[in-house]
Order: sequence, then C-alpha cells, then structure tokens
Amino acid sequence: MRYHSTRSPALEADSAQAVLTGLAPDGGLYMPERIPAFHWQAALQGTSQDMASAILSAFLPDIPDMPQLVKQAYTGKFETETLTPSVSVGDFQVLELFRGPTSAFKDVALSMLPQLLTAAKRCKGIQEDILILTATSGDTGKAALEGFHDVPGVRICVFYPHGGVSQVQRAQMVTQEGSNVAVCAVRGNFDDAQTGVKNIFAACQGKALPFRLSSANSINIGRLAPQIMYYFRAYRDLLDAGKIALGDTVNFSVPTGNFGDILAGYLAKLLGLPVGTLICASNANKVLTDFIRTGTYDRRRPLYKTTSPSMDILVSSNLERLLYLLSGDTELVASLMKKLNAEGVYTVPSELLQKIQKEFWAAYCDDRRAAQVMGRVYRDYGYLCDPHTAAGWAAAEDYVKETGDHAPMVVLSTASPYKFPSAVLSAIGGDTSGTEFQQMERLSQLTGVPVPRNLANLQGKPERHTAVIDKDAMLSYVLEL
Ligand SMILES: *Cc1c(COP(=O)(O)O)cnc(C)c1O
Repeated sequence: MRYHSTRSPALEADSAQAVLTGLAPDGGLYMPERIPAFHWQAALQGTSQDMASAILSAFLPDIPDMPQLVKQAYTGKFETETLTPSVSVGDFQVLELFRGPTSAFKDVALSMLPQLLTAAKRCKGIQEDILILTATSGDTGKAALEGFHDVPGVRICVFYPHGGVSQVQRAQMVTQEGSNVAVCAVRGNFDDAQTGVKNIFAACQGKALPFRLSSANSINIGRLAPQIMYYFRAYRDLLDAGKIALGDTVNFSVPTGNFGDILAGYLAKLLGLPVGTLICASNANKVLTDFIRTGTYDRRRPLYKTTSPSMDILVSSNLERLLYLLSGDTELVASLMKKLNAEGVYTVPSELLQKIQKEFWAAYCDDRRAAQVMGRVYRDYGYLCDPHTAAGWAAAEDYVKETGDHAPMVVLSTASPYKFPSAVLSAIGGDTSGTEFQQMERLSQLTGVPVPRNLANLQGKPERHTAVIDKDAMLSYVLEL
C-alpha cells in the first residue's frame, strides 16, 4: 500500500518502509494514500488478537504473517486475554488500557511495534541494526524499553525530561535491563526532548551510519495502527453486555497528549466502526481544547507540570495527520507546520475547522478538578482511576452536560492509578507522606486494589541508567552509543 508524507505526495513509501523509517524525510508523517476497505462487522466477531490482525493487515499489507506477529506480541503479556477489558462505572464504560506489562496504555502499541519493525526489516532485507530513538513524557519510554529490550537487530535509546516524570516512571526506566538499551535524562521538558529527537533524525539524514534510525513515538504508523483495535474491542464489549445494538453510535472520551490515541479512534471510525463524537480531553495544558474550539493552534504559552504528566504537551504531533485526513491537502499541512515551527501558531481555514468540529469535541480538566473526579468516582462507585483517566471522565461529563447527547460513552483509561499514587491518594483523602513506593502500599491497603506486580517489583532494583545531559548534547550522546 502506498503511503506518503502528510507534507508532500511525492515522498512515498510502502507500509513496511513507513514503519521502518518512522518520520518522512521532510519531517511529515506517513499516511496511507487512502483508507483501506474493511469489513468492520466481521472484525467485531473475533478475539482481540483477531481484531488486531485484521486491522493491521488492512493498514500494513506489506508486512507478512500478521496473525503470527500479533500472537507473538500479545500472548501471555497482558492480565486478560481480551487485552483491554471494559468496566461499567456509573453512567460510563471505562476501557482499561493499562493491563499490560508496564501498566500504561502504550503497552498495547509497543508490544506490537517490535514485531512489526523486525518483520519489516526482514521483508526489506535490511542487515544493519535499527536504532529506535524515543522521547517520552513518562509512559512511552518504559513501554518501548519493555517491548524492545533484547530484540535482535534493534537497539533502543530513550530520552525523558529530567525531573519531568514521576518517581515510579523514572524507576521503571532507569532500572531497565537488556543489552541493547540506553536511557538518558534531558535537562528540559518533554517538548525539548521530542524536538531533540526530531533534530537527530534531521542531522542523520543521508549520513553513512552503522545503524538506521527509527522511532517508537506515535509519529510511527506502526505505533499508531495497533491502537485502533481497542475501539473495536470496547464496541464489542458494549454489544456483548446488551448495552447497544450493532450499528448504534458510541462516543469515546480520550485523555490526549500527542493526539495518537484519539486519532486511532478516528481511524476506527474511518474503517466503519460506528463512532459518534471523539472527545479530546486535556489537562491544564489545553492547547488542543483551544484549537478544537477556535481553529487557532497556539503553543506560545507556558507548559505546566500537572498530575497527568503524560499529557503535558504543547506540540501534539499527530494532529498533523488529522489535518491531512480532513483536508487532503499536503500543501496546506506543510504550510501550517512551517508556521508552527517558525511562529509557534497557526489558524486553519474555517471549512477545515468545521470538519474537525463535526468529529471532535474538546474540554480540559485542571489538577483540582481531576482530584475531585478521582475522589468522587471512588466514593460513588468504588472505582479507582488515575489522573489522566480523570481528565477523560471530566470531559465526558462536560460533553453530556453541554450537548445533551446521551449515547453510550466509553472513557479510555490510560494508566494504572498506581503509576501516580500521590495524586490518587490525596484525591481519596489518604496520607501522602513517604516515597511513591510507600504510597503505593498505603493506597493498596486503603482500597484493597492490588498493586500491579511489575510496579511492586521495582523497589530495590539497581539503577542502571543515570546519565543527565543538556538538550544540545542529545546528538553526540546518540553518536557515541
Ligand atoms: C501517552 C499517554 C496519554 C496521551 O496519549 P496520546 O496518544 O499521546 O494522546 C494519556 N494518558 C497516558 C497515561 C499516557 O501515557
């Protein structure tokens, strides 16, 4: 299948090449020329693994043996065989995406990506190692390390903002084992780390290096495509529970940072799944809320550190894919992205804004409200959710209140509450003294919800990756690996 850059139809690749390269040479993102034809009703009938195979075969037809790759990626790695279970909580359906090996939703994609990448490498006959470069706001890093450690022919280097991730998230990354991994803190915020990674790609372009660069961020289509599956899974679970009939519309509220998760929902809709409104939930860094409401994307604002750090983002990379999908105009996308780079702001034409507003609705939730939501959901329904999920919940409530649309609502739950024990404890009125590990214990004693084993086991593990560097030193760090 032909893919090309969101900024130029001339920069083409097939789907295997798109997975291998990650980012197009002009800085654009790869998108398929057209959305593949898809039997969405048939896809709903299989297991979660069957759904994943069907969707991935449709989007990445140049990668062979998809069912086998899916099996290798997921079997035995998640807490449940459905991979992403749904729980009915109050008026909403909570889609738990955090039951994988690192307790974050990114496991769904990053368990799959190594399989896709090594298969793409095989079918293209590539001999040299692939070096995966990843900037993380906290969760991607560990999920990518877990997916890629000790995968033959691949190395991985993760950059995270120094002081910008939780103690647990840091511990997850710096204790990572494996002979092919590097983890490094960057003085700066997530956007600095992400920009640094993009600059390394640009600097290495066309150079003779002992490795090929690729990315595990959601700029890689091989990272994005596996996320489409759980929208189908959630729909199927609502069907099985008798809450909807086939064809009924379902709304989804998505805690959003880089716009990858929610874009996967839009791709599910384009494949035919009856998705109604996609609700884009932000935290106090509400650049996307403002954009979807006004059509002006303006990153010229301070980045706040919040209790939902995986959403502390001002440059939302995958929005570029949406702009391309809804306009079909690579020249427009290229000019908007150029403006964003040079001036930090752009405004989309009003026809494009209307198309966006037809599909998406946006709201934001600051830390105080997130705490209220976590406390209330726990008190009223005995359900413990993390601050990212709380933002999704709050936006879903706002949507129902403002629009009166009472179609079934799925709230995507993107992290285990145990990844953010301080914020969660404080929200339910617990004592927040001590380290995050002591807080985890206390949270578990208080609520009876068990600590995921992968997190409980972190304590006392030796720290293996302690480097801290300036953002200007990222390229030389990589070249010395
Ligand atoms: C990454 C992440 C998000 C945001 O997902 P995007 O695909 O970047 O929009 C939300 N919540 C958690 C816990 C995450 O790790």
